[in-house]
Amino acid sequence: MAYDIAVIGGGPAGLSAVVTGRIRNKSVVLFDHLGMSPKLRRAHQVENYLGLPGITGDALMTAFEQHALSYGPEWVKEKVTGVYPGDEGFTILTSDKTFAAKAVILAVGVPGAKALAGEKEFLGRGVSYCATCDGQFYRGRTVAVVATSAEAAEEAVYLAELCKEVLFFPLYREGHVPEHANLRVERSIPQEIVGEGVVTTLRTSAGDLPVDGVFLLRESDPVDSFLAGLELKDGAIRVDEKMATNIPGVFAAGDCTGHPWQISRAAGQGLEAVLSAIVWLAKKG
Ligand SMILES: Cc1cc2nc3c(=O)[nH]c(=O)nc-3n(C[C@H](O)[C@H](O)[C@H](O)COP(=O)(O)OP(=O)(O)OC[C@H]3O[C@@H](n4cnc5c(N)ncnc54)[C@H](O)[C@@H]3O)c2cc1C
Repeated sequence: MAYDIAVIGGGPAGLSAVVTGRIRNKSVVLFDHLGMSPKLRRAHQVENYLGLPGITGDALMTAFEQHALSYGPEWVKEKVTGVYPGDEGFTILTSDKTFAAKAVILAVGVPGAKALAGEKEFLGRGVSYCATCDGQFYRGRTVAVVATSAEAAEEAVYLAELCKEVLFFPLYREGHVPEHANLRVERSIPQEIVGEGVVTTLRTSAGDLPVDGVFLLRESDPVDSFLAGLELKDGAIRVDEKMATNIPGVFAAGDCTGHPWQISRAAGQGLEAVLSAIVWLAKKG
C-alpha cells in the first residue's frame, strides 16, 4: 500500500506536517531514526517560541512528539537511505525495508556534514551510508568508518564482526567509542576518498590508508545524497513559496531549506509543505 505522504525527519518541521496531514485525513508515514530532533532536545532554554517562554528544548520536543503521534501516523524509527521517484509515486528505502508514498516531505534538518572530497564520485562504489545495507559486501576486507556521533558505534561493531579490519574515526566530542579486536581507533581527520573506479584509499591528515570501503555514518547526510537530482541553493534545498522542490511531488521544510534556523519557521514551513502536498495529491487524482 502506498501512503499518501511520507515525512522524512521528526523535528518541528516534520511533526507539524504530520499533524496537519493526519487532520486532513491523509495516510502519513514518518521516518526518524534519532528520537526526534536530538538537536533541539539539547537546548537548555527556548525563549522565542510563542506562548511558552523559558521552556526547555526537550520539553518542547516531547510535547510536539506526543501531539503528532496522537494522530496515529506510522512512525518508522529508521534512517532513510534513498528516495526514488517512479510513475506511481516514490519508493523509499531504509536499511532493510522499502516503503511507497505518493508525495514526500523532506524535513531532515540542517545538512550536518559537508560532503567529503570524493564522496559523491564513489557513492555505491566503495562509499556507503549504511552498514546494515552494505556491510556484507565487505566481508573479510578493510573499511574505514567515519562517525559524527556516538550512535554509529553499534554499526561499527557490526562491521568489525564481518570485516578483516575497521578503521574507526570518531569525529565527535562526547560519547562511546566502540571496542573490538578487529577495530582500530584513528585520531586523524579524513580528508579525501580516492580510488580508481572503486575506492582504494582514504587520505587523512596523517597520511594515506589503504581501504576497500568507506562508511560515512552521520546524524544527517548531505541533503541531496539520498534523492538524486534535488536542486540546492547555497547548500540548502531550493524551494518555492509553496515549499515545492524541483522534483514534482517532493516538498521540503525547516532548517534543510536554509536560514534562519528557528523552530517557529520550521513548524510554519511544515504546515505549508503538507498543505501543498495535499493540493498536489488532489491534482494528481
Ligand atoms: C542548542 C540549540 C539551541 C537552539 N535554540 C533555539 C531557540 O531557542 N529557538 C529557536 O527558534 N531555535 C533554536 N534552535 C534551532 C532549532 O532547533 C531548529 O531550527 C529546529 O529544530 C529545526 O527543525 P527541523 O524540523 O527543520 O529540523 P531538526 O529539528 O533538525 O529535525 C530533523 C530530524 O530529521 C531526522 N533525519 C535527518 N535525516 C534523516 C533521514 N535520512 N532519515 C530519517 N530521519 C532523518 C533527524 O533525526 C532529526 O530528528 C536551537 C538549536 C540548537 C542546536
